[in-house]
Amino acid sequence: SVVVIGSANLDLVYEVDRIPSPGVTVLSRGFASFTGGKGNNQAIAAARAGADTLFITALGQDEAADRLAEEARNAGITLLDRRVDAPTGTALIFVDRKGENSIVVNSGANAELVDLTEAELAEIAAADVLVLQLETPLATVIAAARAARAADTVVVLNAAPSGAFPVELLSKIDILVVNEHEAAELAGEPAGTGERSLMSVLTVHGCDVVITLGAEGALVGGWGTTPVKIPAFKVEVQDTTGAGDVFVGAFAATLDHTADERSLVAATEFATAAAALAVQRKGAGPSIPTREEVHEFLAA
Ligand code: ADP
Repeated sequence: SVVVIGSANLDLVYEVDRIPSPGVTVLSRGFASFTGGKGNNQAIAAARAGADTLFITALGQDEAADRLAEEARNAGITLLDRRVDAPTGTALIFVDRKGENSIVVNSGANAELVDLTEAELAEIAAADVLVLQLETPLATVIAAARAARAADTVVVLNAAPSGAFPVELLSKIDILVVNEHEAAELAGEPAGTGERSLMSVLTVHGCDVVITLGAEGALVGGWGTTPVKIPAFKVEVQDTTGAGDVFVGAFAATLDHTADERSLVAATEFATAAAALAVQRKGAGPSIPTREEVHEFLAA
């Protein structure tokens, strides 16, 4: 089974001709709201990929919380949510005609996901795989990783979004999953540094590493082993939003508890196919494929 700890947000998306500058009011051409947040997206992807999935998150006491809870349950997730005294996380997103965007995030309840309970720690200990990201308080991420390691639960950290993350913590996790931009930032190297050199900097910390490379695929490397490149599928791209989250969820769902090199490569291959299906569809949530869809795609 997979336990995901992380953020849940409601994304409010406004399509505009021009992103308003200060003091300007514009009319929107269209509006839609979607459930999101890296934790929520990754939990849905893991559940759709067939894993028994439990999601630990903090929600407010509002309609956004009810909608997130309902959609999570519909995806087959077991939800261990706290209802806190802060609004559910939201992201206000303006997208203009060229597809450029401007985003404001209110972490809200996500910032209140602190002090894991005995029940939550027991779930982490009982799981095969724990999935973490950096949209929830760092102290919680560290406490969860520690509990998992003590119980031989494999710890997968998606170090996203990039920002202040103490690199020493990489020795406390088993597998790091990052895109090229996050890899460069963590390695302290400028963007555009070769993927293999980023890999060698990151694996020095003793964890296995998967660097996703967009349309190029992914590079899987481990402590002391030669990195393996898994190519992406050539597909008609509709929308790459959330491709990384689908990848992480599908990867965690497929990994076995040995997390050895063979298992890492197999999980990366499955995740690459799941992400290839997701980028061919519009929207983040509805585009997340099921295990059957991934197998059909791989068999075609
Ligand atoms: P992020 O969404 O975090 O920036 P990437 O862009 O690296 O992450 O994408 C994650 C994964 O999604 C890639 O490893 C790849 O498997 C898949 N993917 C992304 N973009 C494409 C694309 N244009 N064609 C096929 N697969 C893609």
